[in-house]
Amino acid sequence: MDSLLQNLRAVLGRDAVISEPDELLVFECDGLAHYKYPPRAVVFPRTTGEVSEVMRVLARERVPFVPRGAGTGLSGGALAISRGVTIELARMRRLLKVDLENRLAVVETGMVNAQLSRAVAKFGLHYAPDPSSQASCTIGGNIAENAGGIHCLKYGTTTDHVLGARVVLSDGRIVDLGGAGAACAGYDLLGVFVGSEGTFGIATEATVRLTPNAPAVRTMLADFTDIDDASRAVSAIIAAGIIPAALEMVDGATIRAVEASVFAAGLPLDAAGALLVELDGLEAGIDVETARVRSSLSIRGTQTKWRASKRPGAKSWRRA
Ligand SMILES: Cc1cc2nc3c(=O)[nH]c(=O)nc-3n(C[C@H](O)[C@H](O)[C@H](O)COP(=O)(O)OP(=O)(O)OC[C@H]3O[C@@H](n4cnc5c(N)ncnc54)[C@H](O)[C@@H]3O)c2cc1C
Repeated sequence: MDSLLQNLRAVLGRDAVISEPDELLVFECDGLAHYKYPPRAVVFPRTTGEVSEVMRVLARERVPFVPRGAGTGLSGGALAISRGVTIELARMRRLLKVDLENRLAVVETGMVNAQLSRAVAKFGLHYAPDPSSQASCTIGGNIAENAGGIHCLKYGTTTDHVLGARVVLSDGRIVDLGGAGAACAGYDLLGVFVGSEGTFGIATEATVRLTPNAPAVRTMLADFTDIDDASRAVSAIIAAGIIPAALEMVDGATIRAVEASVFAAGLPLDAAGALLVELDGLEAGIDVETARVRSSLSIRGTQTKWRASKRPGAKSWRRA
């Protein structure tokens, strides 16, 4: 057997290293299946120490590596070009600590994004970065891609919610970047690491901010006969000093594609575009803000519809 595989199995055990061509098929691409690069092997470490040992073996044998979370990336970051070894974090997905007083959590980075919010929902908290892939993508992949989601307009992207990371460097050294404290002295190495697509090392643990669930939520869907009016409505809302939790535009072609698919959501087929607006905050005042958004949406040529959010705490609110 290949000495590299022998050395990796010596570190991780037989069940944590795969190398048969059929086993590797699923790891040859990410969410964008146009580009395919089968790795030489895939390893499944369970601890930071094991990741470190794997990195030492690969550095010694001068074999390239690529970390991988859930493989939902669309930019080829998790592809093992040059027959490298894929380091798959799926077995490192524990919630290590919830610190309610400081509203933070420490997780292993193979944890799936939505699972963190589910785990802390009983405390009225959630993890704010919410890429549309959140049911399957991992916190580690989010850190590497600085992922954002529908709520990043108000709440920011991953970089605004990661306080610290334990990282294994390419020579196997383990370093802690950032931390739970209010500010860290020196260069913002965590800031450099977030968004670096796994090129600086492998994050094995992350300390992340938890955000309180908003007590009140209002969701509006406005459809427009003219896409320019939808754009003007966006400018009008922002110019009015309102930062919606979400403000998403869908154009007419996309509406029709969605409605023709299994994801049909009842969007109006004749619209040139639609805006989804979500407001959140305290119960007191949210209806005033909703009325202000509503007047910003009422632009010439606009047909406006509203419907209730399915999010917990949302109230039904209909067109007057
Ligand atoms: C249907 C769909 C919807 C999407 N919606 C959004 C969206 O709304 N917003 C958005 O930003 N993205 C979105 N994406 C893209 C993708 O889901 C995100 O980039 C996500 O962060 C990738 O996470 P992952 O765990 O799948 O990472 P992977 O695809 O496995 O890896 C992505 C990159 O992260 C690196 N990496 C993975 N784990 C680690 C680690 N522990 N340490 C260091 N580097 C690591 C990999 O090497 C690679 O470079 C979407 C993708 C799909 C398929």
